[in-house]
Amino acid sequence: MNLKEKIREIEDYPEKGISFKDITTLLKDGEAFHDMIDQLVKTIEDKEFDLIVGPESRGFIVGTPLSYATKKGFIPVRKPGKLPAETIKHEYDLEYGSDALEMHKDAIKPGQRVIITDDLLATGGTLRSTVKLVEQLGGEVVGILCLMELTYLKGRETLKGYDVKSLIQYK
Ligand code: 5GP
Repeated sequence: MNLKEKIREIEDYPEKGISFKDITTLLKDGEAFHDMIDQLVKTIEDKEFDLIVGPESRGFIVGTPLSYATKKGFIPVRKPGKLPAETIKHEYDLEYGSDALEMHKDAIKPGQRVIITDDLLATGGTLRSTVKLVEQLGGEVVGILCLMELTYLKGRETLKGYDVKSLIQYK
């Protein structure tokens, strides 16, 4: 199935000049959502891994069905203050200001092999921060998997050395 056709582009959202890739139109199509997960699973079939890690909130939408399909555990990465137990934090710079992500301190054991997933790779800031959290706990990132990639933002350059895959590219 051509999944790109199922994704709606909203011009000037959330700011003027940005063409937002809206996956809600794909998600409400049950066959397309199912096919999306099947296609994502195929890309990691050859990998040995223990856990899937996804940043909020669309990383949960992609990551949890992947976790179900592969029978691997899912680790949520969240904005500060959202996780209930003890956390580790990674702060990263945005164009204006900074942002931070957190993960439970006991989420990953040293040496566990992790696949990180999100809906979209833009500048790479979110995924890079997620990589840092996994590595702080001694996890090994064996793959990074996104549904979509805005290739013109060159986000994969900030993820050099990692195996980055995406199903759909916007050039
Ligand atoms: P980055 O950190 O790579 O610059 O941005 C990626 C993050 O922003 C992802 O978590 C993604 O959910 C969100 N994001 C940025 N632009 C879009 C977009 O056009 N569509 C969707 N669905 N998410 C976006």
